[in-house]
Amino acid sequence: MAKKLRSIRGIHDGLPDQVRGFQHIEQVARAVFERYAFSEVRLPVLEPTELFVRSIGSATDIVSKEMYAFVDQGGDHICLRPEGTAGAVRAYLQAGLTRSGAQRWYYMGPMFRRERPQKGRLRQFQQIGLEWFGVAGPVEDVELLALATAFLKALGLDGLRLELNSLGCEQCRPAYRALLVDFLKGIAGDLCETCHERMDKNPMRVLDCKDEHCQHALRDAPEMIGHLCAACANHFERLRQGLDALGLSYEVNPRIVRGLDYYNRTAFEFVTDRLGAQGTVLAGGRYDGLIEELGGPATPAIGFAAGVERLAMLLESPEPRRPDFAVVSLGEQALVWSLEQADWLRAQGFVVVHCGGGGAKRQFKLADREHARYTLVIGEEEMQRGVFTLKDMETGEQRTVTGQELVASMQ
Ligand code: ATP
Ligand code: MG
Repeated sequence: MAKKLRSIRGIHDGLPDQVRGFQHIEQVARAVFERYAFSEVRLPVLEPTELFVRSIGSATDIVSKEMYAFVDQGGDHICLRPEGTAGAVRAYLQAGLTRSGAQRWYYMGPMFRRERPQKGRLRQFQQIGLEWFGVAGPVEDVELLALATAFLKALGLDGLRLELNSLGCEQCRPAYRALLVDFLKGIAGDLCETCHERMDKNPMRVLDCKDEHCQHALRDAPEMIGHLCAACANHFERLRQGLDALGLSYEVNPRIVRGLDYYNRTAFEFVTDRLGAQGTVLAGGRYDGLIEELGGPATPAIGFAAGVERLAMLLESPEPRRPDFAVVSLGEQALVWSLEQADWLRAQGFVVVHCGGGGAKRQFKLADREHARYTLVIGEEEMQRGVFTLKDMETGEQRTVTGQELVASMQ
């Protein structure tokens, strides 16, 4: 027997029960984001590999080991996108929108990272992301966090913790970085192997290590928020005042660094305790240098991305919509008419399953399995008279109705 093919490890099929959950999350996102006047964009899944090397940073986990990158038949270096911001900035520049005022974009779709698969950590996963180009904040940072809160609340997730940090800027970060490296050298013996690697290339990432021993060793590490320049400190202060004024609660977490190099100043995560180490469901921050880095004019920006699978794990998938009618047609003559009637009912907005004609017993069994509210029986007599025999599957009650009467009674 031929070997059965399976999906790739960490890459899952979305089957109906689960996809109903995803659709619900997407619908809520669209509704909330559009109220803040954001517009959807649909961007490529394949991008030039160089885009991510230049934007995310070659010392990050994503670029150094997690990208699905390959050389295509024409010799081009291509990559399945690991995140959405870099592609959004590329599209914004390519479309020449830098002089068109602030742009408010959102997107949803699959991202790819070759990580170690775990619960809530997949190799293909879906993000709902949002980018706001051309705004320097801090007012917009406050609004973006209000939007994210509104989205999570509309999903029924009000119990999430908002963690907030400032990552400084080009002015204040280098000096802090040097301080941190000095500190890390002093505790190097207590750090895990990955942290050793990060220490030289990407020292701030060490702060984010999920290993408990490392976290213990890092308890007295210097913090960026203690070393902000005046402009960054002022930005952070005004952000906090704005959140307080709107009644949005948060905790300052000096350990939030984000896994991508392009972030500066505001960084945040919405976290749950219900998903273990994969507790961040929505994360983002400011990336004021990225647009320039990718060849555009200096343009501030802020954005976030939410992990759809992680959100779905916190929510119950909605039940499938129960069919209103199952149509049982008796006899060859009535089949075509019954198919037409089924379509007519669908055109009136009802969910209708046609049981396929043939033997009565098989059809009634099928109708039962569909859990339809009503079974409509259509035989030759019904066809001649232009009526249906309607059976209420809950009460067992049976009556004869015309299509118009039926539709009127269902209003
Ligand atoms: P983490 O710290 O959990 O690895 P991250 O910092 O790599 O997250 P981002 O790149 O900011 O995450 O992505 C935003 C969101 O996308 C995350 O908060 C998470 O909800 C989701 N996400 C990221 N990587 C994965 C993955 N491999 N599988 C499922 N969801 C993911
Ligand atoms: Mg990650």
